[in-house]
Amino acid sequence: MYRKFLSCGSLLIMIALLMTGAIGCTTQADQKTAASTEPAAERYFIFDTIVSLRVYDERMTPRHFDEVRALLERIDQRMNRQLADSEIDQVNQAAGKSEISVSEETFKVVQTAIDYAAASGGHFEPTVGPLVDLWGIGGEHPAVPKKDELTAAMQRMNYKDVTLNPASHAIRLKKEGMSLDLGAIAKGYAADVIADYLQQQGFRSAIIDLGGNILAMGSKPDGSPWNIGIQDPEKDRGKSLGTLQAVNKTIVTSGVYERFFEAEGKVYHHILSPFTGYPVDNDLLSVTIVTDTSMDADAMSTSVFSLGLTEGRKFVESRDDAEAIFVTTDHQIYLTSGLTDTFKLTNDNYQLAE
Ligand code: ADP
Ligand code: MG
Repeated sequence: MYRKFLSCGSLLIMIALLMTGAIGCTTQADQKTAASTEPAAERYFIFDTIVSLRVYDERMTPRHFDEVRALLERIDQRMNRQLADSEIDQVNQAAGKSEISVSEETFKVVQTAIDYAAASGGHFEPTVGPLVDLWGIGGEHPAVPKKDELTAAMQRMNYKDVTLNPASHAIRLKKEGMSLDLGAIAKGYAADVIADYLQQQGFRSAIIDLGGNILAMGSKPDGSPWNIGIQDPEKDRGKSLGTLQAVNKTIVTSGVYERFFEAEGKVYHHILSPFTGYPVDNDLLSVTIVTDTSMDADAMSTSVFSLGLTEGRKFVESRDDAEAIFVTTDHQIYLTSGLTDTFKLTNDNYQLAE
């Protein structure tokens, strides 16, 4: 059961919210303007996230939705570090001792994560597990760690201490206590897997939404672009600051609002700096990446958020395949060059910079 990593309490709350429809999505497709065709829709709860799937095709059946569920469960059972005996858990348990061979897909996701760690100069850090555990953000008892605990956790984090053997798909973590955490990339990978499946089944028009990771497959049934709402990082879910027109694109946001807790009047969010041990503290509220594969968008949104506005912008501009929307604490919105025609600001609390 993929739900077993959840406590009963949080599961009940989640079900209640689902039933009342109180949970929106970080970024969501604009249903109002969708063509008249009603989508076949399903929701799943996995990766500690609500996954919403809308397929604009009458041939979509419950069997297809069940097959999507099985794909999500497979990925969770391989890549969720909280799940005892998942492939990533086995790699983590063997840290400092031995290497573990994993499936081709887990190997690919870990390899991509390591590539982003190198490309971002360590701002993206897939061995962030010990720090995530220490803060407990998103869990039942989050707390600000003590300095010596932080130092100890940070000594066990370094993507350079991960050895990958492409021939055998073996992964080795050099030091005992190291722990891979694919929380910043696995959801993106899962969106790509669902899109591939739908494509193979002959579906062309769908919105795949994994709590902020959107994959807009094809176009609306009438052939016009999707309108994707970009979440206002300071408001409840579902309130957007603007919209983006998209055809066959993935739109992924990392922000301070996604998971957080408050202690002594301070807000602590869930993207952690491998350099300070604390939540990344720069002038960004959120970063949205627009690109072709969701795995890349997911890894990039976390990398770029951690890099900050200046370095993050350079990172995105250096890649032909990616665009970004940066939202700063002073309510300025910075767009990379390819988005100026497709992004529409709809919220007068924010301004387009320059
Ligand atoms: P979301 O989970 O809201 O989509 P992200 O994709 O930005 O957001 O991933 C955040 C998650 O990634 C955290 O909950 C944690 O598991 C992990 N993480 C935290 N800090 C980092 C980091 N610097 N590099 C890589 N992963 C991180
Ligand atoms: Mg991410």
